[in-house]
Amino acid sequence: TTSVMWFRRDLRLADNPAIHEALASGPDGVVPLFVLDDRLWTTTASTRTAALSQLLADLSDRIGGLHVVHGDPVDEVVRVARAAGATSVHVAADFAPYGSRRDRRVEEALACHDILLVRTGSPYAVAPGRVTKADGSGYRVFTPYARAWREHGWRGPAPEATDVPWIRPDGRTHQVPDVPVPAGMTLPPLGEQAATARWQAFLADDVADYDEARDLPGDDRTSRMSVHLKWGTIHPRTMLADLAPLRSKGATAYVRELAFREFYADVLHQRPDSAFGYYNPAFAAMEYDEPGEALEAWKAGRTGIPIVDAGMRQLKGEGWMHNRVRMIVASFLVKDLHIEWQHGARHFLELLVDADLASNQHGWQWVAGCGTDAAPYFRVFNPMTQGKKFDPDGTYVRRWVPELADVDARHVHTPWELDEPPADYPAPMVDHAAERTESLRRHAAL
Ligand code: FAD
Repeated sequence: TTSVMWFRRDLRLADNPAIHEALASGPDGVVPLFVLDDRLWTTTASTRTAALSQLLADLSDRIGGLHVVHGDPVDEVVRVARAAGATSVHVAADFAPYGSRRDRRVEEALACHDILLVRTGSPYAVAPGRVTKADGSGYRVFTPYARAWREHGWRGPAPEATDVPWIRPDGRTHQVPDVPVPAGMTLPPLGEQAATARWQAFLADDVADYDEARDLPGDDRTSRMSVHLKWGTIHPRTMLADLAPLRSKGATAYVRELAFREFYADVLHQRPDSAFGYYNPAFAAMEYDEPGEALEAWKAGRTGIPIVDAGMRQLKGEGWMHNRVRMIVASFLVKDLHIEWQHGARHFLELLVDADLASNQHGWQWVAGCGTDAAPYFRVFNPMTQGKKFDPDGTYVRRWVPELADVDARHVHTPWELDEPPADYPAPMVDHAAERTESLRRHAAL
């Protein structure tokens, strides 16, 4: 008998329990399938499709050819499974709003032909919906979730399946379309080997004092594992197993961040409407400004606030932004420019190489004050104070804002205080103190 292994956000061979199931059900042949879903695939330069095309080419090389098809998964998965004479199709469960709907539709379509859709594992150590309060409802606050998540525990990594008889039912070689990276952007090395190499380097060099180093964007010592977690070129189980014997504060802090990723996935699973709607619906009634030119200046990194501009330019240059700076630029958009968080979140989803609906939308809502664990609304980030505290010598700002390359550390976050501010750098587009007051006024009016 044969089976189909339908890859999605699990583009790896190691620690992939769905492959073991596919092999058990398909000892005579397993079709390694990827569907370029019309809804998610475009061949114009975009961070997601450029990254995906590299990742698929890499996986394809490693297994002697992926079976790549293009179209609606409901039609394509059924067609490929029937052509291969498969009795089951194997996946890692998808819990995001679109993916879980799509999988239910594919499952129904396969059932008409007596073919099973078998879900084994997920992109998480603990699948969304598993950890609940005593009354069966989901958590709305991170700290008790994280406690329950740790107590729940997770399996150890699965060994890599060996001698999988990968087959291509039509005997053709499928080229993965080569999609260019957006102009001016450089992506990191991608693929399963790149993920493992990055993880090993982080464990060797940076995990021990991650708890302190993680807040300094100039030092750039976070793990940069987010893109690998997003595409499943490594599983968090593997990372948690490596972290378990480490006793450093850094390792403990890192596990907590992985728990955040799982918490947000759980929250989105509980509340799919919170992907683009307000988690706390009261905030929908707040007074916001129309996006217009202010949004464009923010996107372009031309706000005149150095740390904000550095972050927005890092996003365009690397498809990635340091976490501390993501919070600062998000707060600036929502509380200084009074623009609804969804506009910023969409821009992030378009450019981030690690774009993840759960972490992104809930990261934004946390900053905007309308999410889980909501930061009290009056805690408005002051971008100058943040810059001085977390980028004290201005390394990060100078790296991304060349107009400020020659400005000394005292003025790099407030260049307008210089006798002669650099002529090619814009003056601040807003007065932070005034906008903070305005933001609090709008909140009080709610
Ligand atoms: P590290 O500091 O090395 O963290 C390790 C891992 O822990 C990360 O790879 C990530 O998987 C997880 N993690 C860390 N912080 C968070 C967090 N706050 N929430 C959820 N998971 C976390 N993360 C994404 O993966 N995709 C997104 O689209 C995304 N959008 C964000 C938007 C905003 C406004 C904010 C404030 C945060 C967002 N984050 C997002 C979370 C965080 O900024 C990134 O995960 C982190 O910067 C990735 O870099 P790293 O792998 O070097 O992180």
